[in-house]
Amino acid sequence: MAGHVLIVDALLNRRIHLRAQLDTAAYPVEFAETMTEALLYIQKDPPDVVIIADDLPGLRLRHVCKLLRARPQTQLTTIVVAVAHENHSARVSALIEGAHDVIDHHSDPADLKARLRNFMRIKQSTQDSRSPAEPEVRVGLAEASQSFLPKTVVTFVAPEAAVDVPSRVESVALETGLETRITTIKSARRSPDEDTDVFVLFETASGTEARDLLGALQSHPKCRHSRILFVTDQSIAAASPLDLGAQDQVPLSVSSSELALRIRRLARLKHDADEARKTTTALGEKAYTDPITGLKNRQAMDDYLRKTDRALSDHARPIALLIADIDHFKAINDNHGHAAGDDILGHIARLLKANLRDGDFVARYGGEEFLVVLPDVGPAQARSVAQRLRTTVSTNPRAIEDGTHVRATISIGVAHARRTDRVSTKDLRRAADSALYRAKRKGRNRIEIATPGDIETTPAQHSKAVTRQAL
Ligand code: GH3
Ligand code: MG
Ligand code: MG
Repeated sequence: MAGHVLIVDALLNRRIHLRAQLDTAAYPVEFAETMTEALLYIQKDPPDVVIIADDLPGLRLRHVCKLLRARPQTQLTTIVVAVAHENHSARVSALIEGAHDVIDHHSDPADLKARLRNFMRIKQSTQDSRSPAEPEVRVGLAEASQSFLPKTVVTFVAPEAAVDVPSRVESVALETGLETRITTIKSARRSPDEDTDVFVLFETASGTEARDLLGALQSHPKCRHSRILFVTDQSIAAASPLDLGAQDQVPLSVSSSELALRIRRLARLKHDADEARKTTTALGEKAYTDPITGLKNRQAMDDYLRKTDRALSDHARPIALLIADIDHFKAINDNHGHAAGDDILGHIARLLKANLRDGDFVARYGGEEFLVVLPDVGPAQARSVAQRLRTTVSTNPRAIEDGTHVRATISIGVAHARRTDRVSTKDLRRAADSALYRAKRKGRNRIEIATPGDIETTPAQHSKAVTRQAL
């Protein structure tokens, strides 16, 4: 994963040290000695990550964070502040002023690289989950620490022997005002708390239980969207918890204030991602729904048929495809008005839907036509479903606004394929269409079953047949 890093530090030896660490990670690195110089670089070639020394002369960190976040090109740039080892107050104030993360000036190279990879992943997934309706993202700790958070549950998970965890939980509860829970690794492994937004996993000096739990939480259906903060002093020589799926990692020496800030940030990221998912689903549903009937629209139908074709080519199954068309609908419009026509379209759509099973598919195919797919049905069942749909429509007149009961009817063309037929949905549509025209010709309010002649062979089968003939 390529990432472009800018280091802003006035001290030459620290710049050289960082460069040496990052060289082996193949991250293109640039340097600036002052913030003015850095801003020029940023404007020219926006970096993915900026590492700023906290003792940079004249640094106004809050201002820099605001500036970068205000510009579209740098809105997702990760801002990291480098501070002196174990300077807890400098760490906390950098986070409060808006930095995404804080590192030591002489941090462990493996840890630094794991953090950079994590930033790249977070940036990518924020970009991917951004909904077009809500382009603004809030990823700063400054915002996270100040803004209102919806109900959030934080669960601390610690090995049974860890004694100082309860006091940490208490101070985090006090500082964040969030609901905190505490449990052991064993019991979280047995049944993780499914309401948890942020898990804080404590790892002792030895053992892999916390890392095993990390993996288990990510694949748990109810917890896979929860965020995980890993607290450990173990060397990360083998694999960093960040690479194993934790979104943040701190040493055991972390101060309670910093822990609280980081938990709030993860909670904010989790809630934002939940919102983005909801918006995307809602937008997706809207884009796939026909407004008059509430059924799936043509676009959804095309997607569904494409997927069905893929599934059929992987694993042949019996399938039926029906096309239903309202009889003399033009006359209904002419006699009762277009609004009444719309109302009847909705009424018929509801009747069709109510008479199909959950796994069946129904969409508005065109003006007054509907397409129904019945997976895994035999020919007799397909015929009986079609008859049921036809009868239901013809026996349920719709009372329109002026009180008149309008009795509409439908004609249906039914195409069925056995498991061995290996046809595509395109063939089935063609066959159902031609059966539908027969139903219309034969007087309407009836169903017609496609004959083998209606199902044309696919090009592949066709060419095989031609080859056989030529031989
Ligand atoms: P047939 O029995 O042969 O199917 O006759 P028909 O009148 O139903 O068929 P035709 O294709 O002649 O007319 C279809 C009508 O459906 C014409 C069109 O105005 C109407 N229609 C299409 N979409 C809508 C819609 O969204 N709302 C309303 N109210 N009418 C629609
Ligand atoms: Mg019609
Ligand atoms: Mg029609």
